[in-house]
Amino acid sequence: MKKGKQIYEGKAKILYQTDNPDILLQYFKDDATAFNAQKRGTIVNKGIVNNKVSEVLFKLVEGEGVKTHFLERISDREMLVKRLEILPLEVIMRNRVAGTMAKRYGLEEGIVLKQPVIEFSYKKDELGDPMVSIPHILALEWATQAEIDKVVDYSNRVNRALSRFFDDKGLILVDFKLEFGRHKGEILLGDEICQDTMRLWDKKTMKKMDKDRFRRDLGGVEEAYQEVCRLVCGE
Ligand code: 5GP
Repeated sequence: MKKGKQIYEGKAKILYQTDNPDILLQYFKDDATAFNAQKRGTIVNKGIVNNKVSEVLFKLVEGEGVKTHFLERISDREMLVKRLEILPLEVIMRNRVAGTMAKRYGLEEGIVLKQPVIEFSYKKDELGDPMVSIPHILALEWATQAEIDKVVDYSNRVNRALSRFFDDKGLILVDFKLEFGRHKGEILLGDEICQDTMRLWDKKTMKKMDKDRFRRDLGGVEEAYQEVCRLVCGE
């Protein structure tokens, strides 16, 4: 498949056209940003790790009935994906209190939630990705009720599959962010699933093994990314 024109560059990835109009090439960069790009840096080999981890996790959730944009990993930093019309939403699933949930409600990080919480935010960096409700999404026509139902069902399936998978690897899946899009009228899970978009804590030590090491200047960022990659990919 031929790599064509660049059509989009995000904070962590670049999308290129291919010779098939329905297929894009997703390239993973080492660039890292946090707090709506107010903090910028590089995590050495993050692109390689995130590409590999995303491949394994996309395949895992496909096995749980979640349709995704993933087609094939073709190199260290590149995967082929189905072209999506991305919904302007970030879908966040939480199993424990952390991050903005802790801050918003003045709660301690780590509290186990009685049931998983799903949140939606409007994907708009300039506004700090503000939280929105389902009535907002319907009224603003960002998605239909049928699409939201699919997004919720898929997010729950992803949460169940990944929570079980990481528990077996000695890690707690605290929370994660997903993005969805339309492809030929169908909702598919898009973007990436990796340490940039999840919180993972070591079950025994509660050590943070994800992008919070970068966000909070905790050190050992590359080592944590490599360790999770090793656990996920079974290397
Ligand atoms: P929080 O809302 O607590 O900041 O994030 C909840 C979860 O979603 C965390 O696992 C976090 O990594 C992920 N997340 C939320 N927003 C973003 C975002 O804009 N970019 C990335 N990479 N992850 C996000």
